[in-house]
Amino acid sequence: MSTPTSPVWHPFTQHGLGDPIPLISHAKDAKLYAADGTSWIDAISSWWVTTHGHAHPRIMAAIRDQSEKLDQLIFAGWTHEPAETLAAELIRITPAPLTRVFFSDSGSTSVEVALKMALGYWYNIGEPRSRILVLDHSYHGDTIGTMSVGERGVYNRAWQPLLFDVDTIPFPHEGMEQATLDALEAACRQKPAAFIVEPLILGAGGMLIYPAWVLAEMRSICARHDVLFIADEVMTGWGRTGTRFACDQAGVIPDIVCLSKGLTGGALPLAVTLCIEPIFAAHYSTDRAKTFYHSSSYTANPIACAAAAANLAIWRDEPVQQRIDTLADAQAAHLSLLSQDPRAQNPRRLGTIAALDIVVPDAGYLSTLAPRLIAFYRDRGVLLRPLGNTLYVMPPYCITPDELEQVWSAIKASLGAV
Ligand SMILES: *Cc1c(COP(=O)(O)O)cnc(C)c1O
Repeated sequence: MSTPTSPVWHPFTQHGLGDPIPLISHAKDAKLYAADGTSWIDAISSWWVTTHGHAHPRIMAAIRDQSEKLDQLIFAGWTHEPAETLAAELIRITPAPLTRVFFSDSGSTSVEVALKMALGYWYNIGEPRSRILVLDHSYHGDTIGTMSVGERGVYNRAWQPLLFDVDTIPFPHEGMEQATLDALEAACRQKPAAFIVEPLILGAGGMLIYPAWVLAEMRSICARHDVLFIADEVMTGWGRTGTRFACDQAGVIPDIVCLSKGLTGGALPLAVTLCIEPIFAAHYSTDRAKTFYHSSSYTANPIACAAAAANLAIWRDEPVQQRIDTLADAQAAHLSLLSQDPRAQNPRRLGTIAALDIVVPDAGYLSTLAPRLIAFYRDRGVLLRPLGNTLYVMPPYCITPDELEQVWSAIKASLGAV
């Protein structure tokens, strides 16, 4: 095992396995390019962030323009136009009860903020609560707090001693939905602070899909018991599930919503946590002790906000929904061609996301299958990154029919090769 020559320590990468790490010099639409012209189709949207495609001209122009006006500004007690425009637009496109926007810089921090808002609310109204309810197999990020509310496993074993206790509700597997709802109802009677959930689909947990009516029921159980309902739309937001937000499909209005990933179209890091007025009101006071004490240096960075405002303008002016519907149909067609293949189990789709489980003896996250598949696809010009034995395709909405065809042919070839 040779020690890598680059000093870069990559995320979720076992350097000891010695897999090559392609050096990308530029990207356009659904394609990544190396300096020598080698290209790859980005079939996972650079880890679920790129929505319209790489280097969308309007987003790139917004970044250029803003960078010549204001690069960065302290956001505690100061403000700027890109943040104001973006916040107003976010409030306009989300349901009326969501009235406040708190900025941060990643999906994980937007979830940390959501948890702090929930506990801050109960604390400030003088009825402190601290328990958090979570859904089994969830993923909400890699910071200590978000690992605490996520699935425990090999990827966070070393840090277990630092994680706080939560109450876990079973995932609503088909036929078991009522058990989930009953468990949630029972847990809500213990007066927890909040229930956090990935709406309609658990991403990193293995693209596990559950029906909209279950989401709606979970929401009303929380409302009945006065438990705050947090929707983590970090992955599901911005069209992935077929609608702008996954909650839209269930008619669900959460108390708190986390958005990141596609917020800037995937161009720059930015996140927001939206909340209902009573949560803001519980912190609104002449008493400085009731202040929401949370900030990071780059909160609401003006360039990132300008990129996000451009993303919202694209949603307003371009046929984004039509592109999503077309991609969703194409994904369905490709998936149905594999429906008779015994090696591809549980073919499933939600909006633009298609997934299946590959039948192997050593399934699970540490299966040797995933790294072998990653190499197989990389050698065929496709960027795919299975979750254990779960393979999924989540491309930018601009992917062409030819490119999508190449992705699925690589998948078909891999089923025979593994
Ligand atoms: C990716 C993801 C996060 C974490 O976002 P980061 O920007 O990687 O910190 C949180 N929740 C969900 C559902 C995600 O998919």
